[in-house]
This record gives sequence, C-alpha cells and structure tokens, in this order.
Amino acid sequence: MSVIEACGNPASATEAKTHPAATTAAILARRAHLLGPAYRLFYERPLHPVRGEGVWLYDDEGRRYLDAYNNVAAVGHCHPRVVEAIARQAAQLNTHTRYLHTGILDYAERLLALLPAADYQLMLTCTGSEANDLALRAARAFTGGTGVIVTECAYHGVTSAVAEVSPSLGMALGPMVRTVPAPGTGGPLSFAQHVQAALDDMRAHGVRPAALLVDTIFSSDGVRSHPCDALAPAADVIRRAGGVLIADEVQAGFWRLGERMWGFERHGVVPDIITMGKPMGNGHPVAGVALRAEIIASFGASVRYFNTFGGNPVSCAAAAAVLDVLEDEKLGENAYYVGEHLHAGLRWLAQRHALIAEVRGTGLFAGVELGAPAGAAQPLAQIAANVVNGMREAGVLISATGVQGNVLKIRPPLPFSGEHADLLIEALDDALAFATARARL
Ligand code: PMP
Repeated sequence: MSVIEACGNPASATEAKTHPAATTAAILARRAHLLGPAYRLFYERPLHPVRGEGVWLYDDEGRRYLDAYNNVAAVGHCHPRVVEAIARQAAQLNTHTRYLHTGILDYAERLLALLPAADYQLMLTCTGSEANDLALRAARAFTGGTGVIVTECAYHGVTSAVAEVSPSLGMALGPMVRTVPAPGTGGPLSFAQHVQAALDDMRAHGVRPAALLVDTIFSSDGVRSHPCDALAPAADVIRRAGGVLIADEVQAGFWRLGERMWGFERHGVVPDIITMGKPMGNGHPVAGVALRAEIIASFGASVRYFNTFGGNPVSCAAAAAVLDVLEDEKLGENAYYVGEHLHAGLRWLAQRHALIAEVRGTGLFAGVELGAPAGAAQPLAQIAANVVNGMREAGVLISATGVQGNVLKIRPPLPFSGEHADLLIEALDDALAFATARARL
C-alpha cells in the first residue's frame, strides 16, 4: 500500500473554499511577489500541507504524508496536550518577563533539573539563533576573548553574529572564526588536535579564544553521530586555552537521540553553556540558553537581558506541556527502540543499494550518505535530491544535508513507530533504485 492515501477529513476542502484560486502555481507566484527571492522551498513539486496530526501531514488535496523530517513537532504535530496548554494560557494571560509569573519559574526549575550540573541558570529566547547569539555574548563577556571555533559545515542560526559562525551558509566568516572538521572526518588528526591547531592559528593572529561551539549531532556536517570520544578531549583543549564549550542542542536535545536527553551526554562532557530550541515548544517559538552560574554572573553584571516574547507565559506553558508529553509517552525510550529498528532497516538498505556509502546517526536521527554509483552522469547532490523528491512523491518526507548535500536526513517526530519506520524503508528502497537508474542516464 502506498503511504499516500485519501484522508478521511481533508482540511483542503475548507482551504480550497477560502482560497479558490490557490493553485500551486498561483501560490508560488504570490510568494515570489510578496516574500522576495531569499526563501527556499523543499521539493521539485512543493508541498502544501494544511493540517498535521502526530507523524502525519495532510496536503491541500487531502493526501497524507509520513513526516520523517520535522523534528520541531517532536511530540507529534498538533499534540492535543500542547495545543490545550497554549490555548488555556493564551485565554488567561500573556505578558512578559518584566512581571512576576511563576510559569517561567516552574519551567526553569523542571528543565534545570534535567541538566547534568547543579549550577546552571536559564535565559529564555524565541529562537535557537537568539539562544546561540546570547551564548556567544556571554562566552565573550566571561572569557574576554572573541575567537570562536566551529565545525566546517556548521549551522547555528540567522542573526549577524551566528551567521558569522555558520559556514554552511556559504557567507564570509568573521575574522575571529576558525573551522575544524567534524569528528570522524578530517584525516589522521583527532578532533582535539584540529581544535588545538585552530587555537594556535588564532594566537598567531592575535585573536583570544572565547568558545568552541558545536552542534552535538553535527547535523549540517552530515550527521556525525560517531565517534563519541572526540568531544571531551576537545573540551579540555578549549578550556585550557581560556575558552568555554557551548553545546548547541537545538537539533540533538529533548530525547531525539534516544538513549539520553541531550546530545552532549553521549560524549561524556558537561558543557559550560547549553543552547536549545526547535522541539522545546513543539512548534511554538520557545528556545533558551543554560549557562553555568559563574558565566551568567559576569554577563549579568554588565548587561540587562530582556526579550519581549522570550519566556512569556504562553511559551512556558507550551514548553512545560512538551516535557509532560515527553515523560508521559516515554518518547525518549520510543526514540531509542524505534531508532534501533530504523537503523537496522537503513543498514539492510545499504546492503541492497550501492548508492548508500554509509549509514550514520542514532535514535530518531539518521544520516544516510550517498556515494556516486559507477558511471554516474549526475552530481551527487542531484542524486540525493532525486531520492528526496522520489520519497515525497511516495508520501514520505525527508531531506538532505552535509557538505556536498548528499546525506539523506531522517528526523521524524518522536512518536514514530516501527510500522512507520517500515513504511519509510519500503519507500526508500524504491526511491534509491529509481535514483540509481536515473543517475546513469
Ligand atoms: N542551531 C542548530 C544546530 C540548528 O539546526 C538551528 C536551526 N536549524 C539553529 C541553531 C537555529 O535555530 P532557529 O532556526 O530556531 O533560529
């Protein structure tokens, strides 16, 4: 059975009535006209979802798609408990952090108890970019340095400061930024040795180091889940040089990786600063940064922090409901067990398809690296795009990432089941066969 099937309750009917002229072509033209050229859409045939539920998205024609991409809706699209918490708080009060409100305190108490050391304090933001931006400011205030080390294809967000430490955007990096290959890449030198070389280069150029900033699943570097012993020695190296370790948990955090709640735990490190976002509000814009008290003390002594929307009562209600669901539905455990099943399926595919060079990842985060098949006429990124588009046509949503855009990124909402994983594997089997045949044309 195809994953796509008619949906019993097509929200499209309503949408079609309210926007009778909203054909895909018309919407594309309106977008280009109104939003300008910087936005990018997924897929050769863009998707127009109008409703979400659990791991499913429903498009404007009433077709359903298995969502194996959207980690933001971590506890499932439109989870009723999160929706209810948002609605209840929105109906009662929504202000900001310049008034007393216990919602933010209850949430901070709960979240901080889920972090490894006892002395973190929490500041809330609306986006992961803001969290990383704030983390950099605090790290620089604490260390007195400006230099930041990131991985070669890292992404940490959209503000000017974090875009400068996001080589995956392809923009010029700041003069105080150095890049290192992600763990498991970069030849015979260890990750820590690369970090040391970056520090040596900073010193040679009169740049004082502030931080090593890493996405703990190295997502945009192509999902570099292993090895897990590379980060701890690198943390020692940056700390010896006077800098701090910032763990960007925007991708890896909140049980995505199964075994542990946070990505850094897999690496046996206790970061100085932890940033988080995406899944934190299940789609409601909540993000945050936890900092060791010593760091926040030096920052707070000279800076006042206020964020109009960050940490508002509705955001805190959404974030608290997400923690409730994660706990009550045991989604970390689910991510672990279903992740094992998914990875077994991906390894099985790797034996069937020469196109697969390597399967990486853990829990419900997988990276499937494609290698050019013999006699391929198409570039690898195009072959990966063909797989992603083939999956979309089959009704399963994934994406591609990595330095060459050739790593399939699979990162479903956490209530993903073994049956969902089987549907994905079946669709991927076909899409890989099709893309292999097309690559040689
Ligand atoms: N850090 C990482 C590792 C991310 O993947 C992202 C978003 N893709 C961000 C930070 C930025 O988060 P946001 O889009 O919420 O600003």
